[in-house]
Amino acid sequence: MNKDLEKLYELDKQIQVLKHANAVLGWDREVLMPEKGISERGEQLAVLEGIIHEKTCSAEAGELLEKLGAPDGSYKADSALTEADKAFIRNFHRNYSRNIKIPEQMVREFARETAIAQQVWAKARLESDFAKFSPHLAKLVDLSREKAELLGYKEHPYDPLLDEFEPWTSTAEIDAVFSDLQRSLVPFVAEISSKDQVDDSFLMRKYDVNRQEEFSRFILTKMGFSTDRGRLDVSTHPFTTTLGPDDIRITTRYNENFFKTSIFGTIHECGHALYELGMGPAFAGSNLADCPSLGIHESQSRTWENMIGRSREFWNHFFPILQSHFPQALSDVDSEKFYRGVNKVEPSFIRVEADEVTYSLHIILRFNIEKELIKGNIRVGDLPEIWNTGMKDLLGITPRNDAEGVLQDIHWSFAGFGYFPTYALGNLYGAQFFDKMCKDLPDLNEEIASGDLMPAKMWLGENIHRTGSLYSAEDLCQKVSGEKLDSSFFMNYIKRKYTEIYNI
Ligand code: MG
Repeated sequence: MNKDLEKLYELDKQIQVLKHANAVLGWDREVLMPEKGISERGEQLAVLEGIIHEKTCSAEAGELLEKLGAPDGSYKADSALTEADKAFIRNFHRNYSRNIKIPEQMVREFARETAIAQQVWAKARLESDFAKFSPHLAKLVDLSREKAELLGYKEHPYDPLLDEFEPWTSTAEIDAVFSDLQRSLVPFVAEISSKDQVDDSFLMRKYDVNRQEEFSRFILTKMGFSTDRGRLDVSTHPFTTTLGPDDIRITTRYNENFFKTSIFGTIHECGHALYELGMGPAFAGSNLADCPSLGIHESQSRTWENMIGRSREFWNHFFPILQSHFPQALSDVDSEKFYRGVNKVEPSFIRVEADEVTYSLHIILRFNIEKELIKGNIRVGDLPEIWNTGMKDLLGITPRNDAEGVLQDIHWSFAGFGYFPTYALGNLYGAQFFDKMCKDLPDLNEEIASGDLMPAKMWLGENIHRTGSLYSAEDLCQKVSGEKLDSSFFMNYIKRKYTEIYNI
């Protein structure tokens, strides 16, 4: 192998190991750490992040990338580079050129301001007091606008922020896709609301937490989650994190009176985990063992949670088993009633609890606000009113307070502007891939109905997981589905499913 390339792989390996060490600290903070451990933990994470930042944009990295022809994409190496090598160099160069534009002083300022803002946000949400959070948010918006200028952009200052989570995707592209989606989704939600509503009251009965855990673990094995390469634990907000190529952690939460949270949370996170577990072994320990974008990652969790996990076929098989775990709570429920119950559609205030039909509207609202906020067209002080008007326009409901409105999500307190769109993109990519999977696997429905989830897992592994970050999200979408991202796949899926459930 070319000596420079070998050195770059070695440098990247160190960066990946540091990132995994960082993930150990982060996982522990959410799952095990006692409350007072937070200040030392914050310092540990900040020091490690500083080292990762330094390594990513070090002079050595710059020289190697230059020699390998990364800046102009010519890849002028002595030997012929493989497709994977080129993708590896491109990924490294992308991180290098983003990081080198941000001075260390700004990295530290972000770390300091977001640490304070997160604490203030938690309190402000508890007290439903936006005014308390407002000055901190204003500071983070200013910092992010500065960051966007440093990173540079052609069209919209939101572009470089979005690019952090959804590489090589522009605000204008998302705008076009979301506008299509909104145009079809809003009238469809209204149509559903005008029909007889689904009864899901049985989901709020008492479900023993230990039995919930038992059932969650059972579903994990059916999905092919490897317990020798992964763990399931409990945290306040469910998440998936990678501690190493053979150590993927997921979490869920159990609520005795709200059964949906644990099971669908577990399936969702396992969808993320199967992605991480399925990266090609040849990519292990390099930047190639990553997703092309968060939207693509989310497509995997949503495919499992909604398209498979909320399907009639799935519960045909699994409901009798579930019923044997909860004979009392489900005594008067059958699989059809259960299927309809877990697919109830209802405009609601809280994004994380939204059903799969209304969910994307929560994201469109955030996206519309974020891009104007970053452009400087919205004042932070006006956000509660803008939020409430947007909810009324898109979902037809008005939050009673800021806690169930603009303050509900943590993302702005860590300056995660550009993150939200990836959630709705996950729905769209997921539906587009699922459409292809159904065409490639004509027996998929029968297989799921017999409790065999392996064909779906294998298909996703072969077509998506295995390729890591070899391709951009756009190229992967094209390769897998033969078309560019198109919201009509999602709308067709939604319409087919809910027209039947709601008798439209
Ligand atoms: Mg997710």
